[in-house]
Amino acid sequence: MASLSLKNVGKTYPNGFVAVKNFNLDIADKEFIIFVGPSGCGKSTTLRMIAGLEEITSGELWIGNTMVNDVEPKDRDIAMVFQSYALYPHMSVYDNMAFGLKLRKTPKEKVDKLVHEAAKILDIEHLLDRKPKALSGGQRQRVAMGRAIVRNPKVFLMDEPLSNLDAKLRVQMRIEISKLHQRLESTIIYVTHDQTEALTLGTRIVVMKDGVMQQVATPIDLYTKP
Ligand code: ADP
Ligand code: ADP
Repeated sequence: MASLSLKNVGKTYPNGFVAVKNFNLDIADKEFIIFVGPSGCGKSTTLRMIAGLEEITSGELWIGNTMVNDVEPKDRDIAMVFQSYALYPHMSVYDNMAFGLKLRKTPKEKVDKLVHEAAKILDIEHLLDRKPKALSGGQRQRVAMGRAIVRNPKVFLMDEPLSNLDAKLRVQMRIEISKLHQRLESTIIYVTHDQTEALTLGTRIVVMKDGVMQQVATPIDLYTKP
């Protein structure tokens, strides 16, 4: 049983631009799906439709046994990590991580427990009182991931999460993400331009062009077979 299923999903923006056409994909539990393709081919639009941040204009999105086209973002079992971190600048690291839980009316003690557990996994426990501006790029990226993992979602969406980091940190965080994937047993959909990330992290790679899925294959098949 696929944990996430796109059935003929399409997106036409209000100005008439067709950004995604007839996207079909069944994603099994615990897969690590990579989206690649040139800038503007519809990767972010697809991710945002899955997250519920962008309306699906045709087709159906299923999570487990539920068609979620009209389900609000906060009620989908999904968390998204952005390239730009999207942290709230006026809030501490703790409050940034707790925000999504409080929004969902999680009891205070439980919030506290979940934030500390996630902070420990990501090695940011010592930073919980700081504001985002007092953090390095790598630390901010960890906080952004912390915000996502506190909710223990079934599906993580990551839109070029490492592209703002320098080369050395990128390697380190790539390894962390791989470990996180194994530890959390979640499904990940991950957009990247980095071939090493695609090859080492992905269970399958989806190649997009001009809003159309061109190919879906395992890393080995994609890069070793003509
Ligand atoms: P990618 O993530 O692959 O770079 P996007 O999904 O961001 O691509 O964008 C796909 C296409 O949709 C691009 O041509 C982009 O200009 C267009 N697009 C994105 N957002 C909007 C919008 N709100 N209105 C109209 N066109 C948009
Ligand atoms: P998280 O749970 O990942 O911390 P939040 O709960 O802070 O996310 O998000 C608050 C609400 O705002 C949710 O309904 C979420 O889907 C929505 N949201 C989050 N990021 C964005 C964004 N970049 N654009 C639009 N809505 C967003």
